[in-house]
Amino acid sequence: MGLFDKLIKDAVSGAVGNAVSEAMKQAIQPKADELAQQAVNQAAGALNQAQQASAANAAPAENQNADVQPAGGNAAQMPSKEEMEAALGTLGSLFSGFAAKAAESMKLCPKCGEPAAADKAFCQKCGAKLPDMTIAEGAKCPKCGRQNDPDTKFCAGCGEKLPAALAKEQAAAEADAEVLALWKEKLPDFPVWNCGGTELALEQIPDTDTETWRFSVRLESDAAAQNAVRQYRQLLMQNGFQKEGQYPSDEHLYKRVNGVSMHCDTEHCFEGDADSPDFYFNHSQPYGGYDYKKPESKPKQSGGLLGALFG
Ligand SMILES: [Zn+2]
Ligand SMILES: [Zn+2]
Repeated sequence: MGLFDKLIKDAVSGAVGNAVSEAMKQAIQPKADELAQQAVNQAAGALNQAQQASAANAAPAENQNADVQPAGGNAAQMPSKEEMEAALGTLGSLFSGFAAKAAESMKLCPKCGEPAAADKAFCQKCGAKLPDMTIAEGAKCPKCGRQNDPDTKFCAGCGEKLPAALAKEQAAAEADAEVLALWKEKLPDFPVWNCGGTELALEQIPDTDTETWRFSVRLESDAAAQNAVRQYRQLLMQNGFQKEGQYPSDEHLYKRVNGVSMHCDTEHCFEGDADSPDFYFNHSQPYGGYDYKKPESKPKQSGGLLGALFG
């Protein structure tokens, strides 16, 4: 792509970005690309004509001054900054209008954010039930009636939380509840705990020696995440989990249930984002075993040089 094409396409993409949310941008991108290509073709055509006219005019002059660089003539024929801005402004309002129309005839999946046509009931990407409202309806204030931009959380007129934002929160809360139900089912011996965070996730880690599950959660700050980990360790200990083995540690708590080892590993819980700890659950045994006994130190031999050195 030439510099000129890129300039126009970037500006078009900027105009689209200003007008619509990321998800809608995805949905209308093919149309935006098509319009952008039209704009590029038109501009290229105009530029080409201007260059030909310029070359025809410049030809006699060039013969007279052969050592003057002719390339300067092309640059002079580029559209002016003002002309470019006017053209791109027109494109911008074209896209805004297009986006507003799209918002009236489209929905967004509250779970994964995928756009869908207004007549669809379920998300084609993740299968979640789609809301009844279109994107435009979701951004219309139920209190003062203002039509807000798509993807706005609070009404710009009165501060009321908008229907789409409420639906998104509700979908997130339902998803979190599903994760806790899965935890109860798959890890019944580890106390279930939502720790006040969001974006709960529980998944089995493939290819591990012992069946391992990872629970992760998003907290509001790094400090809140640290605190949540401490709280969960306490909850485990209240439920009979203990430090065990040769290297007892708060980061590895164990409990035997009907002869099966339950192990919660929080040693690596901050290796991802610091506000999103990961907890690992598996059936590993403590190093050295549950019955590991620290060897008793030998009774001191009284007196003598050897006794002082090796006692
Ligand atoms: Zn979805
Ligand atoms: Zn309002």
